[in-house]
Amino acid sequence: MQDFVKLLGLKHRREVAGKSAIFGGEHFVLEETDWYLLNLFRLWWHYGISFLRLQMWVEEVMEKFMRIYKYQAHGYAFSSLEELLHSLGGEAFINMTQRSVAESLLEAGVTQRFIDDVIAAVLRSSYGQSMLLVPAFAGAMSLAGAQGNTWAVEGGNKLVCSGLLKLTKANVVHARVTNVSLHSAEGKPLYQVRYKDEEGQGSGFYDMVVIAAPLHHGKSNLTFENFDPPIPELSGSFQPTVTSVVHGYLNSSYFGFPDPKLFPFASILTTDTPNLFFNAMDNICPVNISSSFRRKQPQEPAVWRVLSQRPLDKQQLKTLFRSYYSVQVTEWQAYPYYDSTKTLPPIVLHDNLFYLSGVEWVASSMEMISVAAKNVALLAYNRWYQDLEKIDQKDLMHKVKTEL
Ligand SMILES: Cc1cc2nc3c(=O)[nH]c(=O)nc-3n(C[C@H](O)[C@H](O)[C@H](O)COP(=O)(O)OP(=O)(O)OC[C@H]3O[C@@H](n4cnc5c(N)ncnc54)[C@H](O)[C@@H]3O)c2cc1C
Repeated sequence: MQDFVKLLGLKHRREVAGKSAIFGGEHFVLEETDWYLLNLFRLWWHYGISFLRLQMWVEEVMEKFMRIYKYQAHGYAFSSLEELLHSLGGEAFINMTQRSVAESLLEAGVTQRFIDDVIAAVLRSSYGQSMLLVPAFAGAMSLAGAQGNTWAVEGGNKLVCSGLLKLTKANVVHARVTNVSLHSAEGKPLYQVRYKDEEGQGSGFYDMVVIAAPLHHGKSNLTFENFDPPIPELSGSFQPTVTSVVHGYLNSSYFGFPDPKLFPFASILTTDTPNLFFNAMDNICPVNISSSFRRKQPQEPAVWRVLSQRPLDKQQLKTLFRSYYSVQVTEWQAYPYYDSTKTLPPIVLHDNLFYLSGVEWVASSMEMISVAAKNVALLAYNRWYQDLEKIDQKDLMHKVKTEL
């Protein structure tokens, strides 16, 4: 994503400071302060060295994950998610997609209390589901993001997508793809892609097709024709997440601050507590931030984003807000529901028919999908030019070190 931002001449959005806290349903179980040392001291006081163990665990995963950038810079690609993960972190990385983050952290010496208070809160905010379900790899990515060095694009992250489309001079057909069927031309596969838009139906023939939307059951109405064996239906479901963007006055009393002026937090995470009807909420800033921009005072009306599993009813909104001017609700089929589905989706569906979105079953983020997209581009290229040495190579760390 960083490369895209540079390539397109975009900028990071200016950071606006704001403190976070974790709400346990009745009171805050952990509160950030303005002082770095005091924050460290509090973590140590409550949880011993668990936070250091967590940091070491996340750093180890990230260090190995970052090998992918070197591999890709040398043109190497992988034909399955398992091959990709294996080349980065061996069997351990594959195992990390099959066991829960809670289990892995306990093994790394992180205490149950730290997991219940802190890890659960981060995962409820990023994946809307319990740490007993979220796999260790996805959990590590999300915990790396929670360490405070994430960024957004000035003007909105969507500028990356529109900018890249423009840069590649892609011919965009604004339509919904309904079907991909296999044909052949001079012994080579040719794919017919059928689509529908407001004006009706259309189709086109392509040498290569990359499917970049989830194919899982109920998520896509895309069908495949003439494939033998047929393209398998992918099992698994998605975790709904509702975002409510509310412009209003926070009810700070609900969080134990009867005087709204004294409410210090811009971001509220929550623990896995029965009856808590929201996963997280944060005071959001515009996509463009001028140098004179400041956060609203806590007693002023502000724009809050509330994440919940179900749409908030009137009573719940009144619990969180003393009053509000507007509420905008979006229901997302947001991330994979990480249940016991242990096999990762394929990347290659047919000779030159590829599937991108399966990587969300490893971890779901813009960075992951960008890395997976580059992998598919390299894979398609290497397969097309029969450069098989650049696909699924073992011992890549050694190879890239010795290559010029
Ligand atoms: C509420 C929420 C918050 C998130 N926050 C973050 C965050 O802070 N940081 C982060 O890194 N990630 C975040 N994510 C995850 C991130 O949005 C995804 O990882 C990313 O969007 C995946 O990109 P994608 O291109 O694979 O899929 P998508 O962005 O889902 O794009 C798929 C596109 O395909 C289109 N499509 C689907 N079916 C068809 C069809 N048949 N024909 C034509 N087009 C079709 C869809 O309309 C859609 O535009 C968040 C996700 C959600 C839901």
